[in-house]
Amino acid sequence: MAYLKRVDLSRDYAAHRSEFDEAIKKVCEETAFSGGTYADRFDREFAEFVGTQYASGVNNGTSALHCAMLALGVGEGDEVIVPANTYIATAWGVTYTGATPVFADCTSDTWEISPASVEKLITPRTKGIIGVHLYGQPFDFASIKEIADRHGLFVVEDCAQAHGAKFEGRSVGSLGELGCFSFYPGKNLYSFGEGGSVTCNSEEYYKHINRLKNQGCDVRYYHDEIGYNYRLEGIQGAVLSVGLKYLPEWTRRRQEIGKRYLNEITNPLFTMQKHPDNTTPVFHLFVVEVPDHNHFIQYMADADVECNMHYPVPCHLQKAYAKLGYKKGDCPNAEYLAEHCVDLPLFPEMTDGEVEMVIALCNAYKG
Ligand SMILES: *Cc1c(COP(=O)(O)O)cnc(C)c1O
Repeated sequence: MAYLKRVDLSRDYAAHRSEFDEAIKKVCEETAFSGGTYADRFDREFAEFVGTQYASGVNNGTSALHCAMLALGVGEGDEVIVPANTYIATAWGVTYTGATPVFADCTSDTWEISPASVEKLITPRTKGIIGVHLYGQPFDFASIKEIADRHGLFVVEDCAQAHGAKFEGRSVGSLGELGCFSFYPGKNLYSFGEGGSVTCNSEEYYKHINRLKNQGCDVRYYHDEIGYNYRLEGIQGAVLSVGLKYLPEWTRRRQEIGKRYLNEITNPLFTMQKHPDNTTPVFHLFVVEVPDHNHFIQYMADADVECNMHYPVPCHLQKAYAKLGYKKGDCPNAEYLAEHCVDLPLFPEMTDGEVEMVIALCNAYKG
């Protein structure tokens, strides 16, 4: 078989090429390039998909997180608790405002933000918590929300890996004060470039985010606050509207592959992520723990299968945050995962034959 990439977007484009091309052409013909008709239409469709009153499209997921922090009034001197086991952008949004991210450990079984760890980190400076629905698996929103309510904190959801995932039957992005999405290529719903969105039910937050992303103005050339150029491009809005139609189908296929991996990889060298019964995961990444992940990645590469680590360095130990003074041992579960994690190829257009090959390779692995 040919080399199997972790994610192969070219198959998706080949399958829906005429629709994508037609959507892009329309934007060009109408020169609706920045914001405009197609970006606005996608906002309405995406809000409906998530089940919120509003969605505000932005230029990427990192900007979505930055806008969310600004809309919630986070700034210098404040602390926001974020998981150590996530993509670094979860923390950037906090840092950009001048506030300090405080890193919480993950649980040892779901690998999601640990409520017990969060509880210990709350100080008089804490303003809120950003939970991440990591690898497409919803975090324990009920427990995090209970802690937040008890201390008067906000909860923001980082949904960059979890479009359409559900916690107790409710879509992620509709649970906390604000939901932040990324449409980076390879995410469950993706643009042909960069894109993101902030979802909410508050008109006040929605209007504020619209202003922040649009250079701080409601009326052109009148700038009421310091703003940013974080608008969603029209072409991305049009492409995302096409993708959104297929997202339920893509999600079903991801879930089918995820369940096969869970059921059919029986090699005891692998530890799987736990998926609690009150959640519906969407399998953005299929991450497992193995004793020696570098060895396993090489083993798979020798069989022409690409695997990778998510993430090799937990946020609290990244050089960029050295001045915060964290050390090894501060978030032991996240550190253990970083030293043992590996992801298996998982994307909707994988053939059954490819899925079976990955399963067979995993089961034949001797360590
Ligand atoms: C991808 C991702 C982001 C950042 O999104 P961009 O669109 O790349 O800026 C933030 N958080 C998580 C968890 C992500 O996976």
